[in-house]
This record gives sequence, C-alpha cells and structure tokens, in this order.
Amino acid sequence: MYPKLVYNMEKLKANVDAAAKITKDDGGCSMMCVTKCVCADRKVCEMLAAHPSVDFLADSRVDNIKKYADLIKDTEKQSVLLRLPMMSEIKELVEYVDISQNSELVTIEAINEEAAKQGKVHKILLMVDLGDLREGIFFKEEEKILKTAEAIEAMSNVELYGLSTNLTCYGAIIPKNDNLSVLCNMADKVEERIGRKLTVVSGGNSSSIYLIWKGDMPEKINNLRLGESIMLGNDTAYGETVPGAVHDAMTLQAQIIELQEKPSLPIGEVGKDAFGNVPEYEDRGIIKRAILAVGKQDIDIDGLTPVDGQVDILGGSSDHMILDVTNCDKEYRVGDVVEFVLEYGALLKAATSEYVKKDYI
Ligand SMILES: *Cc1c(COP(=O)(O)O)cnc(C)c1O
Repeated sequence: MYPKLVYNMEKLKANVDAAAKITKDDGGCSMMCVTKCVCADRKVCEMLAAHPSVDFLADSRVDNIKKYADLIKDTEKQSVLLRLPMMSEIKELVEYVDISQNSELVTIEAINEEAAKQGKVHKILLMVDLGDLREGIFFKEEEKILKTAEAIEAMSNVELYGLSTNLTCYGAIIPKNDNLSVLCNMADKVEERIGRKLTVVSGGNSSSIYLIWKGDMPEKINNLRLGESIMLGNDTAYGETVPGAVHDAMTLQAQIIELQEKPSLPIGEVGKDAFGNVPEYEDRGIIKRAILAVGKQDIDIDGLTPVDGQVDILGGSSDHMILDVTNCDKEYRVGDVVEFVLEYGALLKAATSEYVKKDYI
C-alpha cells in the first residue's frame, strides 16, 4: 500500500554508529537519541534501545516516551523529555520519564511533589537560554540560575542532573565555542554553589555536532541531543553531511494515478489555489504530468527531493502531488512508484500522518 515511509534499518543503524563515533569517541560526550521526528516509531525505538552507543532516548512529548518506556525499563538507558513539561502532565511525566528539561521553578516544585507521592526521584536538566530565545532562563540572569539550582538541590524528590541549552531553533543562533562556554562557566558556578559536580552539561542538538569535528567544542560539554543528525545525517548548523552518515535512511514512496500530456500553464482566469495562495507557473509548453496519490495532508512538498534526478516537482494540493516527468529517461506508467528523500519537516509530517504506511527494510 502507498504512500509509504520506508525505514532502511541498516542505514539508520549506520547513522547512529556514525553519530556515536563523533559524539562519543571523538567528543567524549554521552548521546541522547531524539525520537520525535519519527513519532517514536516502535521499530526505530527498538533498534535504539538495543544499540550499545545510545545512552538516552529523548522526545518532546510524554505520549511518545510512554510508547517506549517498556523498551528501556530494565536497562542503563534513561528517557528524557525535551520540551518543558506542562503542569497538566506532571503525573505521567513522573510515572514514565526519568529526566526532564525545565526552566520554571513552579513546575519543578510540582514535579517534586508528585515524585514524592510516587516514591520516586525525578532528574532535572535546568535550561539556560544563550540567546536563541526559545526556552531556558536567560544567561544574563546569573543569580536567578544559581538560586533556581540551589532550590532544586534542596528538594528531596528531584535531582539537579545538570544544565542544558538549546540553539538554532527559534533564533537560528549557531552554537560556537564562545556561547557554549557561557553555559560551561555557568555550570562551574552552579557546581561551586551546590558543592558538587553536575552529571550532565548538555550542549545542544544537531547544530552542535559540527563543533566536535572542527575541534571547537568546549571541554565541559559532555552531552548532545541528536535527532536530525542521526535520522537524516544532517549537520544543521551549516548544512554539511555528518561524516559517515547518509541522508536516505528514510524515503517516501508514492504511486502514480494519472499520467497525461497537458500544458504547463493553467487555462482561464487565475484565482487562488486550494490553500489560498496565488500561484505562479512557468511556461514549459506541453509536458508529461504525473499525479501521485499523496498530498499536503501527508507531507511537506517543498521538503522532498526525487531520487530520480530527472523528475521535477510542480506542486500539489491536499491529496495530490504533480510531477513533470517529461525529461525522464525512465518511461513512467500509471501504477509506478516514485521515491523521494525527505527533509526534516517532510519526515515529521510523513511520520505523523496515519495515511502514510510505514515499512521497514
Ligand atoms: C528537537 C530537539 C532536539 C533535537 O533536535 P535535532 O535538531 O533534531 O537534533 C534537542 N533538544 C531539544 C530541546 C529539542 O526540542
């Protein structure tokens, strides 16, 4: 059945190996594998849970972590909630998740209370915002960070596990030695204040991994949280390929339902398309147009690259995608399957869509 998202488990595992070689062997960091861009796909999580280089499985949603809590229950691996917890999910958080990233003392107090009720100790990564301006206590509020750390340290059912930061998400700020050093200095000060070492200083996501192969990662950073660099092999700071990783561990396959020769320019007065945009068209004369049974409900059309380099994506609507196959050596026919490599947004959407079947090779 099509459309389908095909996971090549061998390639995916090789990508984990490649990321681990850099992060762990070269960088001396522990590795959190981020499962959100594949919606914590069960088969992928089984592979990650069995992989000796994976130290933590991380996701932004408790719902996703719940799905794989059983896989790591009796192992050394721990689960991490990346998004700051909602007040409404504290009970489930404490029940299913080992570690969570936090910046709000009121939330941490609620976690402490719930953990006491459940007879548990929940671990906290206190987030520091280095200027990307999404989550975390702003780095210039040093006393607030230190006071929050002290307050956590004084609670009995939460443990201050470390500090963490997130970059290149909202503000698109690139991690560098200088901004990550601010986090490291803060970690030194927190350690001084609480009188012990922190377990983790987490230096960011897939945009930080390049610092290791550039030899520019501050010494004290000892953890990275990696999603896109593992799943898609992308360094997200400068768009390089993670050495040893591939971009096509996952592909999208869709089937041709119509193949007709028609003009490239629509005929009549141009209004708005199905999504309210006024489209622009290029006149290519009469072309061979293939329609695929997949659309914007299932994928992000701009985030797809055809494996057949002679295929050109013209556009699409909710349930259809239109290709120009005029210049293809391959003689496409109705029923043929066209394959695409995905960018992050397209992968996220395909993994989320219940209309996209999942297949494993
Ligand atoms: C999504 C996310 C990550 C992983 O990001 P990638 O770019 O996929 O590596 C890490 N940390 C946080 C807080 C996130 O939200």
